Amino acid sequence: MFENLSERLSGVFDRLTRQGALTEDDVRTALREVRVALLEADVSLPVARDFIKRVQAKATGSAVMKSITPGQQVVKIVHDELIATLTGEGDPGKLKIDNPPAPILMVGLQGSGKTTTTAKLARRLKDREGKRVLMASLDTNRPAAMEQLAILGTQIGVDTLPIVAGQTAVQIAKRAKQQATLGGYDVFLLDTAGRLHIDDVLMDEVQAVRDVAAPRETLLVVDGLTGQDAVNVAAEFDGKLGVSGVILTRMDGDGRGGAALSMRAVTGKPIRFVGLGEKTDALEVFDPQRIAGRILG
Ligand code: GDP
Repeated sequence: MFENLSERLSGVFDRLTRQGALTEDDVRTALREVRVALLEADVSLPVARDFIKRVQAKATGSAVMKSITPGQQVVKIVHDELIATLTGEGDPGKLKIDNPPAPILMVGLQGSGKTTTTAKLARRLKDREGKRVLMASLDTNRPAAMEQLAILGTQIGVDTLPIVAGQTAVQIAKRAKQQATLGGYDVFLLDTAGRLHIDDVLMDEVQAVRDVAAPRETLLVVDGLTGQDAVNVAAEFDGKLGVSGVILTRMDGDGRGGAALSMRAVTGKPIRFVGLGEKTDALEVFDPQRIAGRILG
């Protein structure tokens, strides 16, 4: 991204270096280019505006303006600020799964990729960390979703809680906890029901499940291609449930990754993983450098 951004701005800075020292106006002109790049990457307008303001404050300091290579310094400040904004505290890939069996609550809208992501995460925990994992679908409205999780479980060699017709989500969550304890599992993933839109029925149910499961992590799965919508969804879920992290799916698609920057800036929640395809191994730990490259590429 460094190269791409440099290229994009090189015309501007070439002109500037010929002129000698930079003026604040020169920097402002250059940052207008950066702003366009952010907006093209689907970063929301207020977030892009704030970002530029922060960069501007740093870039117009006299140390930068009077340096030998002010143009390059401005580019570096943009890069560093982007990474700083995208980076959360701690290791995003490290889940709180000590004290077995550790419950992990998976939440999100229908179609966001929640069930697939539950299986991806289960596979990762089993294969990379050697954990004994149990998965349970709580989607009582959609028997097909329950079956989908069972099929994925068989594919990846992870146990799923047997489906019992007629149980409520809370009853299933209790049963999952019991089975995880008796069966000596390290972690159990609860794939909660999704809906097309956020509504009170959905939130009440997920809150009730959260209260009985006491999850160590509540991971929100959102479609990374939906840009600003993804951020609104995250803000709502976080307000009602308190999420501990976000997983952005479909980052293998055409989206430029702007949702990631807006997500961090608006919700303050760490992005933990990104989904990069339909297969159960297409999950990666969130890497700010990589997303920064896509945003400004
Ligand atoms: P749910 O309704 O939220 O449980 O969504 P599903 O897990 O059923 O996923 C919906 C569709 O999105 C399925 O066809 C998945 O294969 C697909 N999907 C999920 N995650 C990704 C991803 O990271 N990349 C791509 N390309 N497709 C994904």
